[in-house]
Amino acid sequence: MDEYIEVVLPIPIEKAFTYKINPAYAARLRVGMRVAVPFGKSKHYTGLVYTLGVTAPTAYEAKEIDLVLDEVPTVNETQLKHWEWIASYYMCTLGEVVRAALPGAFLLESETVITANKEAEVDEEALRDDEFLVFEALQHQSSLRVQDIMAIVEKKNVLQLLNRLIDKEVIQVHETLQEQYSPKMVSYIRLDAAYGEENALEALIGELSRAPKQRVAVLSLFQLQGTTEKPVSLEKLEKESGVSRTVIRSLVKKGVLEEYQLRKDRVSYDKDSGTESSKDLNPIQSNALENIKQQFNQDKVTLLHGVTSSGKTEVYVKLIEETLEQGKQVLYLLPEIALTTQLIERLQSYFGHRITVYHSRYNLQERVEAWNNVLQCREKASIVMGARSAMFLPFKDLGLVIVDEEHENSFKQYDPAPRYHARDAAIVLGHLHKAAILLGSATPSVESFHNARTGKYGYARIDRRYGEVLMPEIELVDISEQYRKKRMKGHFSERLVEEMADALEHSGQIILFQNRRGFAPIVECTTCGHSPQCPNCDVSLTFHQYSKQLRCHYCGHHYGLPEACEACGNATLDTKGFGTEQVEAEVKELFPEAKVARMDLDTTRGKHSYAKIIHAFEEQELDILVGTQMVTKGLDFRNVRLVGIMNADALLNFPDFRAHERSFQLLTQVAGRAGRTKDRGRVLIQTYNPYHQILQQVSSGDYEAMYKEQLYEREQYKYPPVNRIIKITFKHKNYDQVNEAAEWFSQGLRNAFRSQVLGPEFPPVSRIRNQYIKNVLLKIPGGQSLAQTKKSIKRIERSFNAISKFRSVRVIYNVDYV
Ligand code: ADP
Ligand code: ZN
Repeated sequence: MDEYIEVVLPIPIEKAFTYKINPAYAARLRVGMRVAVPFGKSKHYTGLVYTLGVTAPTAYEAKEIDLVLDEVPTVNETQLKHWEWIASYYMCTLGEVVRAALPGAFLLESETVITANKEAEVDEEALRDDEFLVFEALQHQSSLRVQDIMAIVEKKNVLQLLNRLIDKEVIQVHETLQEQYSPKMVSYIRLDAAYGEENALEALIGELSRAPKQRVAVLSLFQLQGTTEKPVSLEKLEKESGVSRTVIRSLVKKGVLEEYQLRKDRVSYDKDSGTESSKDLNPIQSNALENIKQQFNQDKVTLLHGVTSSGKTEVYVKLIEETLEQGKQVLYLLPEIALTTQLIERLQSYFGHRITVYHSRYNLQERVEAWNNVLQCREKASIVMGARSAMFLPFKDLGLVIVDEEHENSFKQYDPAPRYHARDAAIVLGHLHKAAILLGSATPSVESFHNARTGKYGYARIDRRYGEVLMPEIELVDISEQYRKKRMKGHFSERLVEEMADALEHSGQIILFQNRRGFAPIVECTTCGHSPQCPNCDVSLTFHQYSKQLRCHYCGHHYGLPEACEACGNATLDTKGFGTEQVEAEVKELFPEAKVARMDLDTTRGKHSYAKIIHAFEEQELDILVGTQMVTKGLDFRNVRLVGIMNADALLNFPDFRAHERSFQLLTQVAGRAGRTKDRGRVLIQTYNPYHQILQQVSSGDYEAMYKEQLYEREQYKYPPVNRIIKITFKHKNYDQVNEAAEWFSQGLRNAFRSQVLGPEFPPVSRIRNQYIKNVLLKIPGGQSLAQTKKSIKRIERSFNAISKFRSVRVIYNVDYV
């Protein structure tokens, strides 16, 4: 008798597919194993075994699976449960979750691109014939598609072959998304191989007798190498020998020493490293810790609300220690891994080799490694730190989930599906494992704080900075008056210039924040009023002075700034508004002596550029850092005396119900970069609107006032946390079609939900990459079943899809959109 299984394919198809299996496989197949299966006319996919022992489908004839790719399941049942929850809650398919969750290397398919793994040394002898053919082909061609490989080995199914080649590190699998995270590189020093022999070394030391410093450096290195297996870093050698970097490098030039680089987070730790013991908590921290543990005992998700620099991280460390003692795993989620190397290093100093960092921008081999470490509960994966995708790893026994900076909206995946909120999905994951769950922030989301207030979550607070450090002093500067009195220097008020001069005089560093990149967001002709627009998107082009270009920040379209207005021909183009480039240019004029750098998307594209800027600022090689919100994210600089916010109004006036909450969070977080040591920091906020309640709340640090007011507004207008919302987006290249489709769908929604439907409306940017966009918002009151609501929406979608002119309109659901 034939046997059948259900397989989930990593594609947006609602149902699992039924396949026939060879009876020989039946005994060893388990749920969660990967199988290669044919699909459609000629495609092959890797899918996951979902159900065993099902009956033959009636609607189609089941094909037979090609291969079983795993010996043991790659995915466990808790993961599948979790992913099912994500699919159902965020209204996408399980296949879409599988695609997001599994490292690409696990999901080989016909279109995948293969390249040679340049870093590995391949032992050709150890390759089988078919493996060698692929290896050889990749010596002549930089990349191959799976189809090419099928032709080379003259086989239809090559997925197993490719998996073997990945295991042997012969090939790499290429994904389209290749914005590489650039890890920090660390310099290491070793004796040049020529001095490996004892005689050679002795002779060298003799030679150096007239260069005592160099001699000390060599001897210290020799000693360090003798006492540890670990590579010796430049920093360590400098510290241990007391000899400066310059001297050590002169030895490198001479060829006595060799300098080499290793990636910070790829260095394997030996058992002794990372054993720095955790810090004793001060009474406020201890109190918070006890409080948290009590809430955990009542199985409550707990919110740790601690002002910036209050020592939240040290509290996490205690909880992590306790969890590891119980032999359980820890998941530590961060909003953006690239921006948090500082934090990772800090935790590595306590936990060393027990930390795995996981991020979707890591290369595929590393992600597979991390996956397997977690799957096998290896010690090096006791603590997993990562951005949102880290929650998809195959945890077996999670004891603690920490969501740091829980208010950050980058926890929400925007595109593609699954459009999940990592904080909320992590809470569900934690519950599945019966783990303790801690959310931390200096500026909690209104949602989480509301949950704490209503008793759904536990709550602990630290309202003072660690070590007698004062909260920065915040001053609001009214620029409308300054402009009226013609006191502004460019975009700088007198006060800001004064304070900058003062900070520089005291060798303090300065951060200037402006939430727009480029030189000016709008170019306008002063004769005819024409302003260049993007041909593909409904936005003005931003002027970038550095490249003398007009650029679209939505689609990347760009061209050189024309000399004259394209409409009237007059050479009267002027700019309106300002971005980070202009701030930087003005700073350089105001303080020609100061060393200035800019940190925004434009300056951090290069491989190590981000780390370089941070590092230079840390090392105080820079005086002033101008940046977009990149400078707000969890950076801990010791010497920042002044933070200047160039213009707070653009944030406040953003058309979104969360704009005020966000402004409070963003401004408080930027302000928190100031004065993290004994000298009290200062923050200047320039605004046309100094009496705006949010700015008042920021400057008095009054989170509760912000919360109360926002909650009142959300109650009035029925937004979260009072109601849930689902945003439904319609996209199409034809304006009329999008309009008609959105209207038809919304009518269906109104029939079902009446006044809870808002829109359809065009968003402020209503066309992106030639696609028109229209949104409808559905507000779902507390008592209403979310599951039923989604069912109704799906029903409307089915009728919608039955109308042929709507079939090409994309419908996108964003549940709990932020
Ligand atoms: P947060 O995460 O709340 O912004 P941090 O954990 O970064 O705060 O703490 C701020 C600074 O205070 C850090 O430099 C940290 O090392 C130090 N610190 C915090 N708690 C302690 C402690 N108990 N003992 C010694 N130093 C501490
Ligand atoms: Zn564009």
